[in-house]
Amino acid sequence: MIKDRSPRVRQLLNDLELDAFCFFHRPNMRYLCGFTGTDGVLAVTADTDCFLTDSRYATQASAEVVAGAIREYKSKEEGLVAWLDERQIKRVGFEAEHLSCAALRRLREKSPATLEWVAVERPVASLRGIKGADEVAGLERATALAAAAFADVLPLLTPGSSERDVALALEMAMRRRGGDEKAFATIVASGPRGALPHGVASDKLLEAGELVTIDFGVCCDGYHSDETVTVALGNVSAELAAIHAIVLAAHDLAIAAIKPGLPLCQIDAVARDYIVAQGYGERFGHGLGHGVGLEVHEFPTVSPRSEEVASAGMVFTVEPGIYLPGFGGVRIEDMVLVTVDGCRRLTRLEKNLLILPA
Ligand code: ZN
Ligand code: ZN
Repeated sequence: MIKDRSPRVRQLLNDLELDAFCFFHRPNMRYLCGFTGTDGVLAVTADTDCFLTDSRYATQASAEVVAGAIREYKSKEEGLVAWLDERQIKRVGFEAEHLSCAALRRLREKSPATLEWVAVERPVASLRGIKGADEVAGLERATALAAAAFADVLPLLTPGSSERDVALALEMAMRRRGGDEKAFATIVASGPRGALPHGVASDKLLEAGELVTIDFGVCCDGYHSDETVTVALGNVSAELAAIHAIVLAAHDLAIAAIKPGLPLCQIDAVARDYIVAQGYGERFGHGLGHGVGLEVHEFPTVSPRSEEVASAGMVFTVEPGIYLPGFGGVRIEDMVLVTVDGCRRLTRLEKNLLILPA
C-alpha cells in the first residue's frame, strides 16, 4: 500500500474491529496501491496487504502496484477467500457502496462459515477528502487543460452552432491537449434549456440574446476537473443579466467565506442566504458543491445537510445556480482548495459575464 496511506487504513481496521478489509472500488484501489486497471481487489490486514487480480492485469499490476504481494487468481471469489483463509481472517470489511448483492452472495458461498463479511459505508471517503500536494498538482493539470480547451472552442460559441457541436469540440480539444477522457457528459444548455441543471448538450442551435451554461471537465491521470461558465451571446435581457449578477455574487461571497473550521453547511448558507434575499431561493434547488478528486463527485458534500467542517487540503466545488423554467438559467462553478487561512481557486477561467459577439 502507498506508504503514507497505510496507517489510516490500519486505523480503520482497528476502529471497526476488523481483521481485514477488501477494497473493490477502482478509485479506492488506485488511491491505496496505485493500480489503474479495471479489475482486481486490494486485501489489507493489520500487518500485510496483497493485490489480487487476473491474468489480464498481472503485468500491469507488477509495474504499478505498491503492495506487500501481488497474486493472480482464476476466480476472484475463490482466490480472495483462499488468501483470507490462509490468514485465518474472521471479520472482513468491504465498501458497502461498491459491492453488488450478487458479488457478495458469490463471496459468501465460497467463504467458510467462520468468515464474516461486514459492510462498511464510505470507508475511505474521509481519507481521500484531504488531498496531498501531488493530488492538488494533478487536479491543477486538469483544470489548466480544461481552461485551454475552453479557449480553443470560443469561436464556436456563436448563433447557429448546436449545443452538441460545442460539446463535441470541447471534448476533442480536451483530448487533443492531453486529457485522458471527459470527466462527465458535457453540459451545454442554451436559452430556456439553461433552466435544466443537468441539460446535457442537445441538437438545439444557439441563438443571439441567450445565455449559455457550459459545465465541463476532463480527467488527467485519474484526477478530474469540473467547472461551469455561463456566457452571453450578445445582449441578453435585463432579468438574465440580473440573475447572472446574483449567482456570481453568491459564488464570490461563498468563496470569500471559506476557511478551515467553518462547517460546510455554513458555506452553503452564505451563497443560499444571498440568493434567498434576492428573491430566488426557490430557484436554487441543489447543494452548493461536492468534493472532486479521483472521482468527479466525492466526499465531502457541501449542502444544507453537510455535517463536516472545512479542513485544509479539502477540494470541493462552489456552484450556485438559479433556474427559471421556460426562461433560462445561470450556474457558475469553480473548484477550490481549502488552505490554512482561506481557500485558493483551482479552476482558471474568469467567471465574470463573458459577452460574446452575436
Ligand atoms: Zn460541474
Ligand atoms: Zn460540480
